[in-house]
Amino acid sequence: MTVYVKGVVFEGVNFEDPNCWRLEEYVKRGGYAALKKIINDKITQDDIIAEMKTSSLRGRGGAGFPTGLKWSFMPRSFPGQKYLVCNTDEGEPGTFKDLDIMVYNPHALIEGMIIGGYAMGITVGYNYIHGEVFEAYQRFEEALEEARAAGFLGDNILGSDFCFQLHGHHGYGAYICGEETALLESLEGKKGQPRFKPPFPASYGLYGKPTTINNTETFASVPYIIREGGQKFLELGKPNNGGTKLFSVSGHVNRPGNYEIPLGTPFSELLEMCGGMRDGKKLKAVIPGGSSAPVLPADVMMQCTMDYDSIAKAGSMLGSGAVIVMDETVCMVSALERLSYFYHEESCGQCTPCREGTGWLYRVVHRIAKGEGCPEDLDLLSRVGDNIAGRTICALGDAAVFPVRGMLKHFRHEFEDLINKAQKAKGL
Ligand code: SF4
Repeated sequence: MTVYVKGVVFEGVNFEDPNCWRLEEYVKRGGYAALKKIINDKITQDDIIAEMKTSSLRGRGGAGFPTGLKWSFMPRSFPGQKYLVCNTDEGEPGTFKDLDIMVYNPHALIEGMIIGGYAMGITVGYNYIHGEVFEAYQRFEEALEEARAAGFLGDNILGSDFCFQLHGHHGYGAYICGEETALLESLEGKKGQPRFKPPFPASYGLYGKPTTINNTETFASVPYIIREGGQKFLELGKPNNGGTKLFSVSGHVNRPGNYEIPLGTPFSELLEMCGGMRDGKKLKAVIPGGSSAPVLPADVMMQCTMDYDSIAKAGSMLGSGAVIVMDETVCMVSALERLSYFYHEESCGQCTPCREGTGWLYRVVHRIAKGEGCPEDLDLLSRVGDNIAGRTICALGDAAVFPVRGMLKHFRHEFEDLINKAQKAKGL
């Protein structure tokens, strides 16, 4: 379910209309006006990047890196082919917002990518789409056809000398392909495993060429910024957290779904929009930014606003904006068991601390959950975590450790209770 509250990505979209995603409807909502503006007014690449910087748009995929700054890293005078890539490999548990963009407003993404190509002097782009979603992939392909037929995409866009080719690429469903260098490997037809960095994609990306990679929601926010101005976008949110953002709310709320709201909105308001807690139960905890973000207890979360800085200050991450709400009935040991299993299962196996360590994390949490834990297990979890975090090729290692640390920090007593029960059952 998508609920539009106030935002730039779904502005004017009528979700009840089966044709809301079509070019004709997008143009009625002001679509492609930003592209026409930069072509007709001959807006310079520097001006577009400056507007992006003013907007304070931060990457919506999870890392929150400033988009304008990222675009400025692209070497514009590079003599060979350069690439623009959209990361629609949405696989973080709890996240389902990019899928809705592809289904309900794919032209916003397409227009954002074309503008990105223009701003960075790139003529070829790919959209890497998660392998388990078919409707979204097909719809994107149809939307590409519409854009090409209307002269917004392809050779000599809108009669100018700017050319931009854009292609969809369907992945195979591996979580790790959401890591940008694993995505590039997969796009090249190889096994989707992360690369050592540096070099970073801006200098050595797809096929070894300079490449800029952004998330779907990031690109879909670009047309508004260019049409209305970076300052207006910034003012929708708060300083350093410009604009609006999609939050995928799941778990024990009455109306789970995607909510597009201004950054800086209090979490308590978001919870109200979702109809409050299901069955009148009490809020226990929230994972505020996708499964890799450390959990926050209810009292901390109720003091937070939904933006990068507030959630970071509280000790977690806004990440991709996947808000997993848990009520008082949730056993946090079981919740961590499921999370740890996921990261163990999705490790690509390339580096030892992650390959072996994620297995250790899962097995130790599993035995505590089964009632077979021992008092040393909590220190063991911390030690294994310390041997993974910061010692791996990509961030999946950290992503496996953060939930463990968050749970032990805020809900250690639940782990201790289960271990004490196990010890008593053994007569110890
Ligand atoms: Fe693969 Fe894990 Fe190493 Fe990332 S951290 S490269 S997922 S083994």
